[in-house]
Amino acid sequence: MKIAVLALQGAFIEHEKMLERLGAEVIELRKKEDLEQAFDGLILPGGESTVQGKLLEEFGMFERLQKKIQDGLPVLATCAGLILLAGELSNDSNRYFGTLPVTVKRNAYGRQLGSFYCEEEIKGIGVYPMEFIRAPYIEKAAEGVETLAAVDGQIVAVQYGNQFAMSFHPELTQDTRIHEKFLEIIEMGTEKNAVRG
Ligand code: GLN
Repeated sequence: MKIAVLALQGAFIEHEKMLERLGAEVIELRKKEDLEQAFDGLILPGGESTVQGKLLEEFGMFERLQKKIQDGLPVLATCAGLILLAGELSNDSNRYFGTLPVTVKRNAYGRQLGSFYCEEEIKGIGVYPMEFIRAPYIEKAAEGVETLAAVDGQIVAVQYGNQFAMSFHPELTQDTRIHEKFLEIIEMGTEKNAVRG
């Protein structure tokens, strides 16, 4: 199984290490040509969404990647990745892929003191260690978006079809369950497609 990691900026290496630990083949997306290869899933890492959004446009990768997500490519997005997927940002005039019908607040916990750790239940996974770094949260989610986790009443993880997005950083912990689940879901989809021929 081949997973593409957007490697323009931010914490992409940590995702790659985790995926490799789990036996997945990893490719990096750094330029337009990298998108010509086939891959089964996509990781949008944390970092700075404004920088990532700008580089995606500058390198001519934006539309192609957006189309793949719209067409159902499984995506795991963390922190800035969630911002890239969001349909709307409540405190920022930018909008990026817009494939996930949620309203997201950037730097929602404050810019300076917005980093913290907690442990909360994630639906289908169990109690999970959550690292928040100048994190966004989801203020509003459209019908059809499933809430997977909330912290202090704010939504911090959702699933919408093949899109999984969270405010925190599973790649910065030693807990591989989220990545494992993501690979499992892709595997199931691939099997289904193979049977369908
Ligand atoms: N604050 C960043 C942004 O708005 C996200 C932080 C992160 O990815 N750790 O893009």
